[in-house]
Formats: sequence, C-alpha cells, structure tokens
Amino acid sequence: MPRPDHPQSYYDDIKGKFKQARDVRLDYRPPGTEQFTSEFSGELAKYAVDPYAKAVEQREPITDKVEVLFIGGGFSALLTSARLREHGLESIRIVERGSDVGGTWYWNRYPGAACDVVSYDYLPLLDELDYVPVDHYSRGPEIFGHCQKIAKKYNLYELAVFNTTVTETIWNEEEQLWHVKTDCGDVMRAQFVICANGTLAKPKLSTIRGMTSFAGHSFHTSRWDYDYTGVDLENLKDKVVGIIGTGASAVQIVPELAKNAKQLYVFQRTPSSIDVREDWPTDPNWARKLEPGWQATRRAKVLAVVENSLEKRAAKGATSPEEKLRKQENANIDYMMRIHRRIDKIVDDQETADALKPWYMFMCKRPCFHNDYLPAFNRPNVQLVDTKGEGITEIGPKGPVFNGKEYDVDVLIYATGFEVQQTGIYNTIVGEANVNLQDKYADGIRTLLGIHTAGFPNLFIMGGYQASFQFNLTDMLQTQGDHIAACIDYVRSNGYHSLDVSDEAEQWWVDEVINHRGKTTRSEECTPGYYNMEGDSQRRQDGNYNGGFRQYFEHQGEVREKMEENFNLKAKPA
Ligand code: NDP
Repeated sequence: MPRPDHPQSYYDDIKGKFKQARDVRLDYRPPGTEQFTSEFSGELAKYAVDPYAKAVEQREPITDKVEVLFIGGGFSALLTSARLREHGLESIRIVERGSDVGGTWYWNRYPGAACDVVSYDYLPLLDELDYVPVDHYSRGPEIFGHCQKIAKKYNLYELAVFNTTVTETIWNEEEQLWHVKTDCGDVMRAQFVICANGTLAKPKLSTIRGMTSFAGHSFHTSRWDYDYTGVDLENLKDKVVGIIGTGASAVQIVPELAKNAKQLYVFQRTPSSIDVREDWPTDPNWARKLEPGWQATRRAKVLAVVENSLEKRAAKGATSPEEKLRKQENANIDYMMRIHRRIDKIVDDQETADALKPWYMFMCKRPCFHNDYLPAFNRPNVQLVDTKGEGITEIGPKGPVFNGKEYDVDVLIYATGFEVQQTGIYNTIVGEANVNLQDKYADGIRTLLGIHTAGFPNLFIMGGYQASFQFNLTDMLQTQGDHIAACIDYVRSNGYHSLDVSDEAEQWWVDEVINHRGKTTRSEECTPGYYNMEGDSQRRQDGNYNGGFRQYFEHQGEVREKMEENFNLKAKPA
C-alpha cells in the first residue's frame, strides 16, 4: 500500500495528541500497578473461586519424590514435558491450581474466547499430534482440548495433582532436592522444579471505591459464571449487564454479550486498537497435502516475517538514528489512523465512534483483532460509557457510577486483566542459604536467559522477565522448554545431580538485557497499561530481553554449548 504523503507537522500534531491522552489518563490514576489488587481475600475471595472445578476428592498429603515437578499445568509445562519424555524422563509431575491442564485456556472460558495468533502457529506440537486445527484462528475450547490431548499423549495425567496450589518451594541442602509444599498439606520432593505458572495467570481487579457494596452479581472474566449467564448466555435476555475494561478479553466478550443481554453497558477507560480478523475454516485439501514437519517449517518462516515488521521495514534506508525513529513513528501513526478510519466506517454514532478511537502508538497496548466488536456498538441495547481516561472510580449498590450517574446493572463483569509475569505467584521460593527469590530480586531481577537464577539449583523459570517476548507465546515457551529439557538431559547424561548458573553467566545476561532496553523513550511515552507497568518507572533489568527472538534463541544454544563454563554442575550427593 502506498505511504500517505503527509507533512511532518501532521505526524507531530498526532504525537502531541497521544501525549495529551496519556497525561490525562495518568493524572486520573497515577498509582501505577498499585491501583489494582490480586489479593482476593475477605469479601473479594469469591473472585478467585474456580467455577470449573470438578468435585474435589479428598486425598492424603503426598510426600513422594519425582524427577521433575512443574508448578502449573499450562503450555509451559506441556511443551517442556513433551521434550523431557523424548529425553527419557519418567517421573514428571504437574501440580496445578485448576482441576485440569490448560493454564490460561483452562481459566479463560468466557464466551467468544479465541486466540489472535494463527492456529497453525499457536497450537504447538501439531506434527507430533498429527493434528490440523479446524480454523485459521482457534477458539478457546479447541485449544483447551489440544492441551488435554498433549497431556494424554505424553502420559502426564498419571502423576498430576490438580486443585492444588503450591505455597512454598524450598531447596533442601542436605538432600539436594526441592521440597514443594502445597495448600493440601503435601511436601513433595523433586530433583528439578520448573516454575510454569504462566505470564498472565493471576486475575486482578481495579480497586474501586464501594465495589464490595454492589448488590448484584459480579465476577472476573477468567472465572466466567455460566451458572448465572447460562451456557449460551440465554439467562441474560432479561438482564442488564455491565463490563468494566476494554482490553483483549472484553473485545471478545462484548459481541457475545451484545447479542444476548437485554442491555449492555461497556465501561471504557482507554480504547483498544481493533483491526480486521481474517478467519476461515481450514481447507481440507490444503490440510491433506501437508508434509510431516510442516509446522516447524512454517514457524521458521513466520518468525522471519515477524522480525521484518512494519516498523523495521519503515526504518530500512533511514540515514541517521533520528531519521530512523521518525520513519518508524510515522509508519506507526499511519497504521493507527487507519484504525481510526475503520471505526468511522463501522460505527454509526459519531460520538461513540470518536470515543472508540485509540490515541497512542501501535503496540503501546496489546493490539486486538475482531470483526464484531465495533459493530456491537450499533445495536440499540449496547451503550459505551466512555470515562475519557478516568475509569470507573466508584461502584454503588446498583452499579458503576460515572459523572454522577449510577448505572443500574444486574451483573457486573470485571475485564480488568491479570498480574504480569510474576515468578512464584501464590508461592514462596527459597533457594540455597535460605535466600528468598523475591529478596534476591529486590535490587533487580537477575537471571540467565530469564530461565536460570544463581543460588536456585535445578530451578527453571518459564515465561518470566528477562526472556524474549513473542506475540506467539507458544513459540517462546517451546524454545524455553527445549532448552530446559536439554539442560536436564545434560545433567542426567553426564552423571551430575544439579546445575546452578554461574555468577558470571548471570551477570552477562543481566548486562545483555540492560543493553537492549530503553534505546528509545517509547515505553515511557505510551499510555499506561501492563506493557509498560502502568506507567511506573522500571529498573532497566526488570523487563523482557529486547534483543530479538531469534537472537534469544541463538543465545540459548550458545549457553548450552558451554555448559561447564556457564553452570556449576554438581555430582549426586553421597
Ligand atoms: P487488560 O489488562 O489488557 O485490560 C484490562 C482493561 O481494564 C483495560 O481496558 C483497562 O483500561 C481496564 N480497566 C482497569 N481498571 C479500570 C477502571 N477502573 N475503569 C475502567 N476500566 C478499567 O486485560 P485483558 O484480560 O483484556 O487481557 C489481558 C491479556 O490477555 C491480553 O493483553 C492478551 O495478552 C491476553 N489475551 C489474549 C487474547 C487473544 O489471544 N485474543 C484474548 C484475551 C486476552 P486501561 O487500558 O485504561 O488500563
């Protein structure tokens, strides 16, 4: 598509508006991440209850020993386990808070749940499972089912423990094993522990004055109450529904609520960018012709395209760093203005259309793709309550209050997101010399590849900070899983018992992370959101590795080539 020919002043004006929108938003809610809570106790405890839990069987506390124990049963655990099985590992235990595997896809069963990454890339182990997804984009139930199939294929149910939350993970010096305690009284022992607790696993609520005074029904999107709504939302036909938040979850839920609720109020603080979603059923002729190993080949190709992104293309041929940055920003603004024009085309009411326009650079917030979200606002039963950056700050017995009006709703749905990339949620991790991981991180996160951290032997972290971020998270998790499985195999095949990253290797990676962060002021200029820690200032090492995914992958290989240099490897205790 030809680039529009605007003078630089056009772009500068829009950048000015982006800054204004960001400042308005920050002025209303300066406290960054502090504005949220994910400690659901007392009157908030109901928001954490698992509505999908199968009847919990009483069991005796477990005190046995396994080779590998996963904290969490989502894609991190499943992908790594598949590789561990290929390396001959036998005793693998998943300990999971939910009552099945699936992680994010276990919890996020809200109506309309689907993945925004093309299914042939997102669903992992398709070659191994000889499976071709049903559509170009997979719906939640297909992905959840795929997780279950992986667990079955790799025999992961046998030792798995569900409805169980790990509370403490403590390195026992004498036994040189991890002691893993749970809320069910277990003290399981494991040679290797893998923190596979997910990147966005713990739901959070915006702390809003009066929220516990609300007399109607309420729940978080990741704990969808189908008993209340009905499986097909049929119970909502005489209900007034309110939803707080307009992030990726809400964007998928709103069209479903719009079709089924008597009345829907969407309480918006900052709009998401919504682009087209090109979905279609998988062509059976195409599927039939796929050669073995097709997914691996495809992933490599997709990665090459990802790295040659919109902004990188714009930067090609730019002369100076300033010129390069200017071209990137202008390309980004062109994209966002296309998003605005799309809204104008779809949304009938001009005031609503204007309120739905995002005023920030592309990728300041997680981009969304949906064909039915914007049209939902043309329905007579749907009303956008645009709080213009302020957000809902008060909830009364009837419902959310904005501009002096209390919106009377029967049910209030919190689409307010999740805590981000915390290692050891619900869980205290204590390594050698009684060092608590959070205390170690108090002066900044320290890892090698985001996976190993010194003083915590045989502990591996998945999906945490200091790893490379990937829009297709399963690609990233698969490389981490492959790396971890190879490290464990190295320990076992060479007569060792444990590995712990050397201080030098850890320092090298911390420096790498710092060197690749903050080359621009982009993140600070963004409107707040979980991508930039809600506008909180961040230590340079407390974030993702920004050197590129391919480079991250290559570094994993380099680390493994020099295992004896990068790790302190110890033999089995006598
Ligand atoms: P997000 O954190 O992205 O969104 C939370 C929303 O709540 C934001 O719109 C936020 O506004 C709003 N909010 C918070 N407090 C208030 C308040 N007081 N009043 C009004 N609004 C408020 O959470 P999601 O669950 O939507 O998404 C989390 C992530 O999960 C996604 O970014 C994505 O990575 C993943 N996901 C992926 C999906 C997919 O593949 N399709 C689908 C769903 C989720 P503000 O922006 O102003 O902070």
